[in-house]
Amino acid sequence: MSRQEDFYAILGVARDAEEADIKKAYRRLAMEVHPDRNNGDKAAEERFKEITEAYEVLRDREKRAAYDRYGRAGPRGGRGGGFQHAHFDLGEALSVFMRDFGAGGGFDAFFGGGQREQRDRRRGQDLKVTLKLTLAEVASGATKTVRVRTLDRCTTCGGMGARSGTRTTTCATCGGAGEVRRSAQSIFGQFLSVSPCPSCDGEGVVIADPCPDCRGDGRVRTEKTVQIDVPAGVADHHYLTVRGHGAPGPRNGPAGDLIAVLEIAEDARFERHGDDLVHDLALSFSQAALGADITVPTPDGESTLKVPAGTQTGSVFRLRAKGLPRLGESGRGDLHVRVHVWTPAKLTPEQERVFRALAPIEGAPPSEEGLKKFWKQLREALGGQ
Ligand SMILES: [Zn+2]
Ligand SMILES: [Zn+2]
Repeated sequence: MSRQEDFYAILGVARDAEEADIKKAYRRLAMEVHPDRNNGDKAAEERFKEITEAYEVLRDREKRAAYDRYGRAGPRGGRGGGFQHAHFDLGEALSVFMRDFGAGGGFDAFFGGGQREQRDRRRGQDLKVTLKLTLAEVASGATKTVRVRTLDRCTTCGGMGARSGTRTTTCATCGGAGEVRRSAQSIFGQFLSVSPCPSCDGEGVVIADPCPDCRGDGRVRTEKTVQIDVPAGVADHHYLTVRGHGAPGPRNGPAGDLIAVLEIAEDARFERHGDDLVHDLALSFSQAALGADITVPTPDGESTLKVPAGTQTGSVFRLRAKGLPRLGESGRGDLHVRVHVWTPAKLTPEQERVFRALAPIEGAPPSEEGLKKFWKQLREALGGQ
């Protein structure tokens, strides 16, 4: 492997280097070739991207193991192929460096991120609820209401967090910007650093006299009813995200989402296979022999099945489009009715008399050969569904 190909060589570390050594080596090299220091020097920039790529792989236990095993290309076509990403662009490389060394690492970087972090910090929590549904609701779709314990904007202070009659004041540290920019001296010269303001936590305002009801948070505990529209055809463990219906963020920050995890009750009448359902139907001897119109359940009502004369145990009848709706599409699955001929366990004297009269004339079941043929046909019919 050439030096250019070998991440260990690129960082100048041994193949069995500890994580801490890898980090140290990367930091040292990055300090040399960081674009801040090299005024647009293309070679330095390339080198910075190269060492960052090597570092990103070697610092991560899984990626490193994949690299050790498969080399730079990663396992081809394999699952979880580790680090098959393209080379970093400069922005990505810079954010890797910032992530690990940007704060408190003795080095401040000046690119973005602060703003995004600030927004994330103020966003309210996502709430998770379990939503129980019946199969009929899955078939039709449903509008459900759930009660959730959440937070609500404090009405006393309008969510601002300041005691009524007082105001929030602009943060003196950052002048309301929510971030502090400073010109800093580093081992390779002066540069501009931007980070979230420590005094106001990036909000730009400070509360001198907090609202007594929410203690300055701008939110109070509450219970809320949320309506959730469930589309037809959903399955167990699916989840629905209702945007903006989670908890609001502190001091009028943006709300999180409500996440409803679906739990679909077992319905003893049906076995579910995706959009198709299977129903087991017991037929009496005479129904099976003579044929009958049988009422069968469907997820949303009943349907009539014409059982032909001479129906065998194991026969399956398909009721087209009587299964469940396809999620997000038109059309429905089928309902398969699987027949079991029921043998009476206990006969009344009258029944016994009739069966005894039938016995000499009922005819014999098929030979072994004939039975095999029957099951084979049945399997094909089922397999062909
Ligand atoms: Zn309040
Ligand atoms: Zn501030």
